[in-house]
Amino acid sequence: MKKRTVKNLLIVLASLLGLAAAAFFAFLGINTHRLKTCAHESWDNGVCLTCGYVCGHDWEDGACIHCGMVCDHKWENGICSICRIPCPHQWKHGTCTVCGMVCSHEQYKNGICFACGEVCSHEWYDGVCTVCGMVCQHVQHDMDGFCTSCGEKQLHHYVNGACVCGAQPIVYTHALPHEFFDMCSEQGSVQVVNYSAPLYAAQSVTVSKKMSVYLPYGYSEDKKYNVLVMIHGASGSDGDWMDNIIDTEHGTAVCMRNLYDYMIQQRIIEPLIIVSPYTDSYVPGGGFMDTGPEQFAQEVKAIILPYIVDHYSTYAENGSLEELQAARAHFGIGGCSNGALYVERAGMAENLGVFSNFVCLSGFSYVRDVVKSLESQDLSVSYLYAGAGTADAQKDFVIDGYEYIVEHSEKLTEGENAHIEIVTGSHTWDTWAALFFNAAQLLFQSE
Ligand SMILES: [Zn+2]
Ligand SMILES: [Zn+2]
Ligand SMILES: [Zn+2]
Ligand SMILES: [Zn+2]
Ligand SMILES: [Zn+2]
Ligand SMILES: [Zn+2]
Ligand SMILES: [Zn+2]
Ligand SMILES: [Zn+2]
Repeated sequence: MKKRTVKNLLIVLASLLGLAAAAFFAFLGINTHRLKTCAHESWDNGVCLTCGYVCGHDWEDGACIHCGMVCDHKWENGICSICRIPCPHQWKHGTCTVCGMVCSHEQYKNGICFACGEVCSHEWYDGVCTVCGMVCQHVQHDMDGFCTSCGEKQLHHYVNGACVCGAQPIVYTHALPHEFFDMCSEQGSVQVVNYSAPLYAAQSVTVSKKMSVYLPYGYSEDKKYNVLVMIHGASGSDGDWMDNIIDTEHGTAVCMRNLYDYMIQQRIIEPLIIVSPYTDSYVPGGGFMDTGPEQFAQEVKAIILPYIVDHYSTYAENGSLEELQAARAHFGIGGCSNGALYVERAGMAENLGVFSNFVCLSGFSYVRDVVKSLESQDLSVSYLYAGAGTADAQKDFVIDGYEYIVEHSEKLTEGENAHIEIVTGSHTWDTWAALFFNAAQLLFQSE
């Protein structure tokens, strides 16, 4: 049993060895034969010159690692369909000069295509390129105000009376031309706001008051607006700076607010909020009482401006005095006739801390207090615009008052941050409309 088993096992082992040896030699035999027969030492176009063997090609970097043949690339979408290498693109005007691929300009950065480096030829709409998405910075504009890049109308920025482009403010020295007053297609809105204020003579008594607030067309909480407080004249009301007719000559019912609409639409001024308080109070028990410039000085700082800041989008974060002071370059106060006295008292003399733009039309007073205020505080004036009509009974008061304060204050320089203009006209809204037009372009230009 044992012997036979061993014998059988040896037979099996011997035959297995035999098979393995045969396979080994067979394998060796082929290789030695090939090596002996041809080493494929010289190739021509992938064919061995010695034995005619056709190379199966293994490509690396566009050349075959066996036969050294260089791929005669056939490009498909920027990749060689033979050797699979990507085209090393050489772009010229958005087309690759190597593979002929046309760049789809999928991603731009600062107006330059990420892939091909082509500069976008920009198709502007509303200051944004519809091709590359670039937002125009409106770096330069021509004297007509058009951006030299995107062509959008820009506002001139007048420093010392002229814009860097060379343009000067549009000035009217007589009633505004009729064509200004076709009803504007982009109309702002007017809201009447009621508020209460102390009857200052008796602080415990509260009176109800109102003001009209003009919001420009397209008013948005996402933007910030300058605020201009405009005061009516004696026996006027809050509606005067909104609805008073200014085109008396032609008899058309065109009012102040249409002038604001027009100037904003034509990009002559930036959209702004115009606030016109009614300076009279309804006194308990009946009747009206003029607030008076002294009391109004407290009211505009403590009630009106905080209300506007808290309810509309302005440059101040909130109605606190600190915020109002920080945003003073964006607050202005103006008025006509008796309203001009409010500007001088409640603006320049008492509230230089919260206002830095002033418009005094057909009225001037409190000159010593104004000078004292200007000289005693470390606060600059963005702009003071004074004016009257040639046939205006207030003309000389305005000229004298203006000249006095400019002469006595270091803070004001005619032609730089101050200007006086006497236009053809009398003590009327035609005059004030023209003066407003001239003045509004110069306000809010500092900072
Ligand atoms: Zn060969
Ligand atoms: Zn090859
Ligand atoms: Zn190739
Ligand atoms: Zn290419
Ligand atoms: Zn491109
Ligand atoms: Zn573009
Ligand atoms: Zn532009
Ligand atoms: Zn300009």
